[in-house]
Amino acid sequence: MKNDTPIQSILDSTVVSVFINTLIALFLAILYWEHEERAVLIWFITFIIVLFYRLGVYLLYKKEKIAAKRAYLLSLIGIFASAVMWVLPLWTFLRHADLFFQFFMSLFLVGISTGAMILYALDLLVALGYVSITLLSLLLWYVSFMDRPHFIMAILIGVYYIFLLVNIKKIHRLYTSYLALSGQKQGLMSAFEKSSEKFKALLDHAPFGLFFYDKDFKIQEVNKTMLKSLGVSKEKLLGFDLRKLDNEALKSSLFTPIQKRKKGSYEGPYRSIFSGREFMIDAQTVPIYDKDKEVVGALSIVRNIDEEYRRKKRLEAYANFCFNNPNPVFQIDCRSGEVVMENEKAAILRSLAMDWERVKSKICKIDTIDTFHFKVGSHTYLFTSIPTQDGMRNVYAQEITDEIKAKEEADFYAFYDELTKLPRKKLFLKFLEEANKRGKRFGKHNALLFIDLDDFKNINDTFGHATGDRVLSVLAKRLKGILRSVDTISRFGGDEFVVLLGDLSEDEQKAKEDVEKIAQKILETIKLPITIDNHQFIVTASIGGVVFQNMDEEELLKNIDISMYEAKKAGKNRLALFDEELKSHIYYKNEILQDLHKAILYNQFEIYYQPQIELHTRRYVAAEALIRWNHPKKGVLRPDQFLPLAEESGLIFDLDLWMIEEVARHIQELDVDRVSVNLSIQNILNCDFVAKIAQMSEEKRLNPAKIEIELVESIIIKDYHKIESIISRLKKLGFRFAIDNFGTGYSSLAHIKDLSIDTIKIDRSFVKGLGIDKDDEILTKSIIDIARNFGITTVGEGVEKRVQVEFLEALGCDLAQGYYFCEPLPLKKLQEFLKMQSPKR
Ligand code: C2E
Ligand code: CA
Repeated sequence: MKNDTPIQSILDSTVVSVFINTLIALFLAILYWEHEERAVLIWFITFIIVLFYRLGVYLLYKKEKIAAKRAYLLSLIGIFASAVMWVLPLWTFLRHADLFFQFFMSLFLVGISTGAMILYALDLLVALGYVSITLLSLLLWYVSFMDRPHFIMAILIGVYYIFLLVNIKKIHRLYTSYLALSGQKQGLMSAFEKSSEKFKALLDHAPFGLFFYDKDFKIQEVNKTMLKSLGVSKEKLLGFDLRKLDNEALKSSLFTPIQKRKKGSYEGPYRSIFSGREFMIDAQTVPIYDKDKEVVGALSIVRNIDEEYRRKKRLEAYANFCFNNPNPVFQIDCRSGEVVMENEKAAILRSLAMDWERVKSKICKIDTIDTFHFKVGSHTYLFTSIPTQDGMRNVYAQEITDEIKAKEEADFYAFYDELTKLPRKKLFLKFLEEANKRGKRFGKHNALLFIDLDDFKNINDTFGHATGDRVLSVLAKRLKGILRSVDTISRFGGDEFVVLLGDLSEDEQKAKEDVEKIAQKILETIKLPITIDNHQFIVTASIGGVVFQNMDEEELLKNIDISMYEAKKAGKNRLALFDEELKSHIYYKNEILQDLHKAILYNQFEIYYQPQIELHTRRYVAAEALIRWNHPKKGVLRPDQFLPLAEESGLIFDLDLWMIEEVARHIQELDVDRVSVNLSIQNILNCDFVAKIAQMSEEKRLNPAKIEIELVESIIIKDYHKIESIISRLKKLGFRFAIDNFGTGYSSLAHIKDLSIDTIKIDRSFVKGLGIDKDDEILTKSIIDIARNFGITTVGEGVEKRVQVEFLEALGCDLAQGYYFCEPLPLKKLQEFLKMQSPKR
């Protein structure tokens, strides 16, 4: 019985009730039909309508068209209407029926009432109502006859009515408690079903694998976790024979429960024969018995302990790392401040650390991985603190004393020179900055001295760098020793030292004088002999100096550089102070250099020619080509105003080539036997230059027989062998050679002969002394004599006076050149001069 509420029980009884009512009503109608046709028909139809009504209500309820409560109330009308329908015949067509029929009808109604009472027992009100309507109507009906037999019947009905009333309650209670019980049972049943499903789901999704196998080692049941980790379907695994496993240790642990009735255990790697996947497992297997204590199979619980295993391995590795670590390693609980774990090294470190509490607080302040330095005694440690989630810190300490020292040293040597321990440029510039500030503030002068050792390269090249270094450190010490405390000395590298002299006089002149004195002292100190490994070294230096109050660092450094070069140029071992004159000279030089680059391009060079006279014929037979620069702003510049710069900048190469080519062109227009050309030493020693001349000569752009190359005497001693091969190469091509400024370079005339020199030009300084200085006369005479012996032509240079001409003539000199005869002239002018052809006597 499903209906567990009175409402439902009433509604659910509709069909049965309608069916029984219809049957009985039909029976009654058929039974009484012959007595009262019309009344029976009306009654029957009405009854059927009532019953249809009840069925209709029930159907509406079933189809959920009306709510249960409403259906119940509508049903009650139907039920009570049915009860009325049953008693209606008594008052209508049965009123006059015979006694037998009346008793039959009473029995009938008693039966219906009893049936209804049982049917509606759950709803006490309906049951009572129904029974009361039927039985009390019947009782009243009997009483209404007012005769004895009916009266007895009325009493019987009354007694039965009371009996029903008494029992109706009992039946109701019985019924309700039955229903409650049955409901409980049903609840229990569904709860049981649900929980067993839950249980199955629980096992299926348990965090461990589970399988059951029979004593033939065939798998009978398995949960989903197991299937998932093996990577196999249930169909495939069920019936799998465990004897097919290839892992012997695992197999034996699975056989133990069946063969020895004991628990089997296995922990280790397992490779799934289905998916090939490998992992660490823990398998615990127990035998399963039937009720006769016979082993029927075994249940195995398998856990994937991959993660656990890895964690364990990691822990092992960590423990190993800690305890076997040569460095202090420990763990500290920052909540209690206690050291939870430590290795021996850590214990020693802790015992040595006087201010352990500070270390601890530093460690615990760190909440992400971080490091800090801490000094324990004379040792420095680098502590690395790694916080864990539970307020712990894993700490790793590493001694870094050496590294710190190395770093400190590296930091020191970033600013100080390793060899001399003097400040490097970087640091020195800071001092300079300070000096500038002081100069600006107090009006006092400062000075910067750039000391560059002279020819220091020779010491390095001859005695090696180690010796060179020792010399440098001796000098550094000496210099430091003579400077005042307000002065700073720095090594800028190599053999360069820079000294900053501070706190000089406010008067510039006085400051300069002081600087000169100090520089002198420096030069003298440097010059003192230095003995290293029994060798004595004497070093000199060139000093460039600048006196300033407040000057831009870059400009200062540029200026001391310029003045130092000036000191070198002036003959080394001296001081050159930077001043306005030097500055303008430098600017002039730079300007000239800039213009020089454009001069060839803009055709600003011009060749002047100075004729040479043959003394015994008084004919102009030769000329010397001399370069001039027609500077657009500065006018005509002489060679000494730009040639040194041309040599310095390498422009001399193109210049001399241009010269030779131009001279070769002009020769055709000049009525002379030959023209001499001056070549720079730099060029004549340059193979490329010589090759170029040779090439030009082969290309017939030159006329070598008419060109005489003038070389200064000094070159012959400087590089005799090289010059010999060059001269012989060019001589083969037909060029003539002359030695210029002869007598100043100490070369021997024997050399001149060997080199097959054609001409010797006696230097102006000797010619100048003719008629004045006996020595000059003797020297000139001997040069001319020897040259004549060797068949070399002689030219007297710089002839300015008649007496010089007479002397040269008397001594047998071949040619003469000088202002006395003619100044160097431009080509056209010379041509005019030569045309006049009236040489001076
Ligand atoms: P140098 O070879 O001794 O040339 C002679 C210099 O003496 C010329 O000066 C000339 O003008 C000058 N001179 C001539 N007669 C007299 C005189 O009676 N008295 C005095 N005091 N001087 C006289 P310049 O033209 O200024 O040349 C100077 C130097 O420049 C030349 O000296 C020569 O070595 C060099 N030089 C000139 N032109 C060139 C060139 O094209 N290439 C190269 N590399 N050097 C050249
Ligand atoms: Ca010359």
